[in-house]
Amino acid sequence: MLAMVLQQPRSALERELRDIPQPGPQQVLLKVRACAVCRTDLHVVDDELPDIRHPIVPGHEIVGEVVACGPGVAIAPGTRLGVPWLGSTCGTCEYCRTGRENLCDAARFTGCHVDGGYAEYVVADARYCLRLPDALDDVHAAPLLCAGLIGYRALTMAGDARRIGIYGFGAAAHIVVQVAHHQGRECHAFVRPGDNDAADFARSLGCTWAGDSDEPPARLLDAAIIFAPAGELVPRALAAVRKGGTVVCGGIHMSDIPSFPYALLWGERVVRSVANLTRRDGEAFLALAPQVPIRTQVKTFPLDAANEALQQLRAGTLAGAAVLVPGA
Ligand SMILES: [Zn+2]
Ligand SMILES: [Zn+2]
Repeated sequence: MLAMVLQQPRSALERELRDIPQPGPQQVLLKVRACAVCRTDLHVVDDELPDIRHPIVPGHEIVGEVVACGPGVAIAPGTRLGVPWLGSTCGTCEYCRTGRENLCDAARFTGCHVDGGYAEYVVADARYCLRLPDALDDVHAAPLLCAGLIGYRALTMAGDARRIGIYGFGAAAHIVVQVAHHQGRECHAFVRPGDNDAADFARSLGCTWAGDSDEPPARLLDAAIIFAPAGELVPRALAAVRKGGTVVCGGIHMSDIPSFPYALLWGERVVRSVANLTRRDGEAFLALAPQVPIRTQVKTFPLDAANEALQQLRAGTLAGAAVLVPGA
């Protein structure tokens, strides 16, 4: 099979022909139909996350079709499954036992510790795979598996906030605003100064306001979600939320947060991060997706153009999500 492999940190992915992997106990072998490209994949390439295995096949927004099952698994061949970032957990630690498996210290992440979906086939722990709504085709379903899921978890952390600011308008934001509007909330999009395309994209999705991230909002927000990996947005977002408001950092990696006056946090404002996902998040979000209904905007690339897709994501020139399609 063809796989796009990161041999060492901060290098281009290399085309490699490998044997198709065999599913072990509790695993399924999936033929990859689509794999979306996540900003986290850039953090993997740039070596900004701990304990990345090399060589590694990135990709953790995988839509695949069951081809074979390992011992202990009985899923009909042809069944469509989604493979998210959370590849497996220990199942026994305090976090795992209290509904917070996203925080498990022994969690293995897809496309970081175990090979992911930038390949024609992938093996995955069947207990962590997700069923996908029939309403969405492979290419449009793929971005739900991280951009959608993490965006949904971040939105949940914003509580019942009605006026929400969103900093960084990429794949996650374009999904989260659809959910937020469905829930009767109002979204304000803050984009990289001068990025008129991103602002137009946000307006086309019904955002009440869209403009530069260095501008204050016309009225204070109830909460803010930061998807851009830029630490300087934290004090800016704090200054934009009212007393009691929450700033949710939705990314897995962020540049350092500059120091800021305590007055920005005063008034019971909260800063928090969102880490990974639980299977329960996945099930809740994928049940909600067809009700919204979420429509993802995608740009497809052949599998062996993975480097080009990553480059476009890095440059910020994509509207919506990049999706790799093997055999395209
Ligand atoms: Zn655990
Ligand atoms: Zn991701």
